[in-house]
Amino acid sequence: METRLWHPFANMAEVKDKPFLVDRAEGVWIYDTDGTRYLDGTAGLWYCNAGHGRAEIVDATAAQMRRLDSYFTFGDFSNEPAERLATRLSELAPMEQARIFFTTGGGESVDTAAKLARLYWARRGEPQRVHIVSRRHSYHGTNGFGTSLAGIEVNRDGFGPLLSDATRVAHDDAEDLRAAIERIGAENIAAFFAEPVIGAGGARPPEPGYLEAAAKICAEHGILFVADSVICGFGRVGGWFGVERWGLRPDLITFAKGVTSGYLPLGGVAAAGHVADVFWEAPGSLVAHGPTYSGHPTVAAAALANLDILEREDLPGRAVELERPLLEALLPLREHPAVADVRGGVGLIAAVELDGELLAEHKGIAARMQLAIRERGLIVRVLGGSTLVVSPPLIITEDEIGVLGKTMAEGIDAVLA
Ligand code: PLP
Repeated sequence: METRLWHPFANMAEVKDKPFLVDRAEGVWIYDTDGTRYLDGTAGLWYCNAGHGRAEIVDATAAQMRRLDSYFTFGDFSNEPAERLATRLSELAPMEQARIFFTTGGGESVDTAAKLARLYWARRGEPQRVHIVSRRHSYHGTNGFGTSLAGIEVNRDGFGPLLSDATRVAHDDAEDLRAAIERIGAENIAAFFAEPVIGAGGARPPEPGYLEAAAKICAEHGILFVADSVICGFGRVGGWFGVERWGLRPDLITFAKGVTSGYLPLGGVAAAGHVADVFWEAPGSLVAHGPTYSGHPTVAAAALANLDILEREDLPGRAVELERPLLEALLPLREHPAVADVRGGVGLIAAVELDGELLAEHKGIAARMQLAIRERGLIVRVLGGSTLVVSPPLIITEDEIGVLGKTMAEGIDAVLA
């Protein structure tokens, strides 16, 4: 039967007759409708940090739904779970007096941060500061601003004119950022967006010193530094917002995914006090922005229960402990003739990039490898048609990491045989 569900990031002509139906999940495992089990090597879409099937999150969500299913937080309306979550995130964020603006996902958070950055400058009397700089290979979601900022070319293709005030710089060369600032003029730039570890653009940890240098250049020019921690947050690369290990103190941080481990959709922006105060300390200063479900109480209850688990089990610490074993499980593939590079070692994100000649000779080979790996019981993702990426739940064991490495190698070999 042909599906009526329009899948995101899909070639529907290829998948419409054979959707892969996921039926249930437990821990690091997902099961299809035939009952076949797969190791969730990607934690869903980089989000299921606490693992699947956590009764604690389910119970907290159900209890909140029975009490107050939903209510909005526009104007002076609020609710206790949203308040508690904002306070908790504010205390965890590496910034002074952080204020938390909730959205329903990562893309909305990126757009929120971009709009807040521009409005910040407008309210400070510098309305020409609208330009936004991002990095090649970066992914900032598929909403309006995020699409314009995309450092993955294909994500901008075909959508017509996007923001003209957006510039991309080399992803790991701070001098290129400096040169772009000189060209555009700092007085025209609102913000610089950077993922601490680039995720969807190929699982690329930063070159040592790069992020610190970029943050310093932004500070020198008064440009707001926005860390897009949608993937990196909530333990994935260690720490709560994924920037702590580089000692960064961003002006704005976008987050989503791991904040609820994906149990319910939630995102947000943490704004440092010096940014938020421009709005919070100015009576009559309306910010005409916000999605309907901002501060949704049931979603907030899920996030609070998830944070309890991440904290109690020190899953951010576990991600750092396991980053080396994960990289080592994949490193033997570096010698493989089909492989150009193996990346990882900063948190539980790792990638195997396939050889360029192989990719040119065999169109769609990465997708075939993904399928072969899945047939052997492991979920991985293909990025950019060239790279196989893993980002398992932070509860994965070392043994399971071993299985992941072995299965990936077997799937790659099966396609080449
Ligand atoms: N920013 C980053 C760094 C992401 O990785 C993603 C999604 O993968 C987004 C933004 C967009 O998030 P969402 O898909 O929830 O809109």
